[in-house]
Amino acid sequence: MYTDFYNKHQFERIEIHVVNHCNLNCFGCAHFSNICKPYEIEIKEFEKNVSIVTEKVNYKLLNILGGEPLLHPNIDILCDKARKICPNIIITLTTNGILLPQMKEKFWQSLKRNNIQIRLSIYPYTMKKGRKLIDLIHKNEVKIWDIWDGRKFYLRKTKYFHNNAEKTWKNCDAKICHQIYKGKLYICPISAYGNFYNNYFNKNFYFDDGIDIYKNSSEQIYNFLNKSSPNCATCTNNGRVINWKLSTFNEEEWDA
Ligand code: SF4
Ligand code: SF4
Repeated sequence: MYTDFYNKHQFERIEIHVVNHCNLNCFGCAHFSNICKPYEIEIKEFEKNVSIVTEKVNYKLLNILGGEPLLHPNIDILCDKARKICPNIIITLTTNGILLPQMKEKFWQSLKRNNIQIRLSIYPYTMKKGRKLIDLIHKNEVKIWDIWDGRKFYLRKTKYFHNNAEKTWKNCDAKICHQIYKGKLYICPISAYGNFYNNYFNKNFYFDDGIDIYKNSSEQIYNFLNKSSPNCATCTNNGRVINWKLSTFNEEEWDA
């Protein structure tokens, strides 16, 4: 299935939610995981999504996340499947670390044998345990890809649409965080999961702006991913940086 076009065009990162929900409740969560309905991906659906997206689009890295991915009861099996489908790309798993001390041996073995690296997000909630979590990962001989300092959050949502979607998209660092969700590919988490916000607050603010991964060619998908989404008109590049805190489920906490 490798074509010249595929080989010539590479993107940084594809991400896949294995669950939408989370065991933390952060103010302004960029994946809307604190206001979504619980969802966990079925193993077959995971396999289908990862297979088709990596067959059609050339990515350097696959990131498994959520929500909190350790809430998926078969996370070890999903890690095995991911490596089997993608033998040659970097695979990482983003976690807030809360559940790491409870994870069973089969989880650690799966990360180790599949060379899946952990991206650890440390929030003030887990800051005191941070060192212990890092030691635990090392003890299980799993590599750490990076550690994200979650003390600050960046809010980028505007209240109203503006006319500079293209310019905002060009200057946006989230545009490389492509999402594969239920057979559609999205340029960023806001485009993929903005519907959770719409549903929770009963709004029509975000568009479900994804491309059907099955019906479109590599070239069509590449062109789609290389331009702004209507959702970019809801973002600003001059957002608000806030200190991490718990969400109170207020619509305005997403506003920059
Ligand atoms: S830990 Fe991450 S996914 Fe969970 S609520 Fe916080 S920002 Fe969202
Ligand atoms: S909608 Fe556009 S501007 Fe907003 S986060 Fe996504 S890519 Fe960036």
